[in-house]
Amino acid sequence: MNSKATLSMSGPELRRADHEGAEAPAVRAGARAPQAVESKVVVTNAFTIDVEDYYQVSALASAIPRDTWNQRESRVAASTDRILAMLEEKRIKGTFFVLGWVADQVPQLVKRIAAQGHEVACHGYSHELIYRQTPTVFAEETRRAKQLLEDLVGLPVIGYRAASFSITPRSEWALDTLIEQGFVYDSSIFPVRHDRYGMPGASRAPGFVHAPSGGRIAEFPMSTAAFGPFRVPVSGGGYFRLLPYWFTRAGLRSINEKEALPFTFYLHPWEIDSEQPRVKTNFVSRFRHYTNLAKCEGRLRQLLGDFRFTTMRNVLRARGLLSS
Ligand SMILES: [Zn+2]
Repeated sequence: MNSKATLSMSGPELRRADHEGAEAPAVRAGARAPQAVESKVVVTNAFTIDVEDYYQVSALASAIPRDTWNQRESRVAASTDRILAMLEEKRIKGTFFVLGWVADQVPQLVKRIAAQGHEVACHGYSHELIYRQTPTVFAEETRRAKQLLEDLVGLPVIGYRAASFSITPRSEWALDTLIEQGFVYDSSIFPVRHDRYGMPGASRAPGFVHAPSGGRIAEFPMSTAAFGPFRVPVSGGGYFRLLPYWFTRAGLRSINEKEALPFTFYLHPWEIDSEQPRVKTNFVSRFRHYTNLAKCEGRLRQLLGDFRFTTMRNVLRARGLLSS
């Protein structure tokens, strides 16, 4: 068996793996206690899905006018149901950040997600980037989406993720709105540089962040792996499809084992839908959206076997960042 040194972390989300050997290791005089050598820490991570359809993706926004959404074939329920079946088979619970627009179109899907014991959280209503909205419009649409989801699942919705991680230095005011509306955690901050999102100096670990007005909210940032001086996004979505799986796995393992931190993984239902209609757009967007769609479901199955997952709410609660 491979022995790994114990990582000195505590917390209910960290668990020592069962000793894999059949025999108890011999203890020599002066040797370290066997449990300190023979066990490893297993971190439980947050599995999340951003529930939106292929035509609502920010990368395709210039090619698909919003007023044509209603005319397009809805494919989100079928792909989400495949993910739900996979999670059921693996006995894993996750967090589904559902777009309000999708909840209006396919309310039964939201009920199915909740009925299987997953956490339903909020992905806004319109998928408009926050820094392109006024605070008033953002507040109105977020309230609408939260209420809609709570009416469908009959439970408080406490978690939020912005469209395309669009809480950036120019839209931090959105954190105040989330606090005012009763959200207890956010998962929108991506500590990287990117053309559409990113807050490069932000913390990479879950913790509390302060809103401009001084209030605080728990934040589960999008995960990056530390390779020397580089911070590499390995948390899902396009990075999961575009990079080789061995690379993603190495990055995620380093977060769990070297840093003893949980990561968040995210995916969209359309990322396992290789049959989706192709949209004419620029090369970069085509590359980001369509590469490796056919491989993604198999990779997801492998990931679910390689790491330990639960809902984002559970991970934050176990780290003492949520009280309920
Ligand atoms: Zn989204």
